[in-house]
This record gives sequence, C-alpha cells and structure tokens, in this order.
Amino acid sequence: MKNLRFILFFLITGLTLTMQAGDNYPARYARAPRFRALIYFEPGAEEAHVQFDRQAITFFHKLSYGEGFLYDVTTNFDEYAGRLGDYSVIIMLNALPGSAKGRAAFEQYMEHGGGWIGFHASGYNDRSTGWPWLNKFLGCGTFLCNNWPPQPALVRCETRRHPVTRTLPREFVVPASEFYEWSPSPRKQRNVKVLLSISPRMYPFGIKDIVTGGDFPIVWTNRDYRMIYLNMGHGDESFIDATQNLLFTNAFRWVVSRDPKGNPFDK
Ligand code: ZN
Repeated sequence: MKNLRFILFFLITGLTLTMQAGDNYPARYARAPRFRALIYFEPGAEEAHVQFDRQAITFFHKLSYGEGFLYDVTTNFDEYAGRLGDYSVIIMLNALPGSAKGRAAFEQYMEHGGGWIGFHASGYNDRSTGWPWLNKFLGCGTFLCNNWPPQPALVRCETRRHPVTRTLPREFVVPASEFYEWSPSPRKQRNVKVLLSISPRMYPFGIKDIVTGGDFPIVWTNRDYRMIYLNMGHGDESFIDATQNLLFTNAFRWVVSRDPKGNPFDK
C-alpha cells in the first residue's frame, strides 16, 4: 500500500512537471531559411589575410548549419552591386569595394539600413585610399601603426552591457593577429561605441614593430550605421579560441538582429 502511494506520488509529480515544461517550451526551431548574408573577400590579397578569409568562410558556413540562414561568397563585389538589399548583412573579410560602382552601391546600402561586419584590412585606409565616406562610416581616421609579427594579446571589454560583449569575460587573451592603431582613434568620434581594446598592459607590444602606447580600440560600432568592425583577421589562428569565436558569433547575431526588415531571431 505504501509502495502504491509512492508510485502515485511520482506519477503525479512527473505529469505536473511535464505539463509545466509544455507550457513554457524553451526552444524555437527555424522552419525555413530566414535571412541572407553576403561574404566578400579578395583571393589575391596577402597570404595571411587569405588564410584568415578561408577559415572565416568555414566559420560562417558552420553557423549556417540547418539553414538558419543562406549565404553567398563572392570575390567580385561589383557583381552584387545591384542586389545588396537582398542581404541582411555583408561580411567583408580583409576586403573593401575598390571600384566607383562598388563603393557607391555599398554607401547606398549602408545609408539605408544595411548591415556590415568588417574584419581587419576591410577597415584599413591611408592617405591613398581616396574614400572620405569610409572614414565617416568607420568613425575613425587612417591607419597609424601596427604590432609585428602577429601575436596574442590581452584585451579588455570596455562595456559588458552591450549584446556583443555581455557574455564575454572582462579581460581575455585573443589569438595571434596583427592589430592596427588609428589616428584619430575611433573613440574620438561621438557616435562610436568602443567594445574591446588592447590592454595598456600589453605595451611594449611587438617584436620587430613595437607599439609603445596610444589608444588601441580593436572592436567598435559606429551607431550611425548598423555595423561592427573587428580588427582581428591576420593569419590562421583566429578561430582557435572559443571566447573569440563567441565574440564573432555575438557580433554577427547582433548586426542581423537589428535588420530594419525585422529581427529574424524573433520569428
Ligand atoms: Zn594583416
């Protein structure tokens, strides 16, 4: 009799728990591809950049498993100039549009709510670039200096209230890369939000080319646009670290989630 009471107790408890779980089912499964991404890279760029680009394509391919999104990869940006609006986000891997046609299409796309994730040399510009809009868009000046050779770096989150950094440690070590300092720093721009920077404790930073000081932001967003820039992107070690991979995933998810056509992750 006592045993029967126990069995009944467990049956009822189990049933109640199942019903409660059913009321608040904790997952939502995508039924169809929800958005598109365009990945652009230059196969003729320096070897260490192309190494990164190819690994980045594999990284984003894995993020698309189950057709959570569709993506195209191109080495010819101009070919897509007339249909950038089809994409929730354009991911530039060490590449920027070079032609007047490609630049105009990209400006138009970004000025009308387009999404952008730029890695490493996709933000590089100097006096010879001749594209003033790019500086307005990036929210920084021109390339100033870099560490060499690529090496790991201690970085610090400048805020953990932002969706991109909220799941990251306050400080962590990122895999080896070449990092750029800018002049003027993006921090000087009112609408720029710096998310991650090289820790000042890294100075002197480098072996051959040594950065001895200065403001060193490496991940930021210009709030005038739906964009994020990540300075990582040199060599074949950028995807070996779970924390940095999480940063990249957060950045991707955040840019896409703010698509003016709607947040695909809410559907
Ligand atoms: Zn580089």
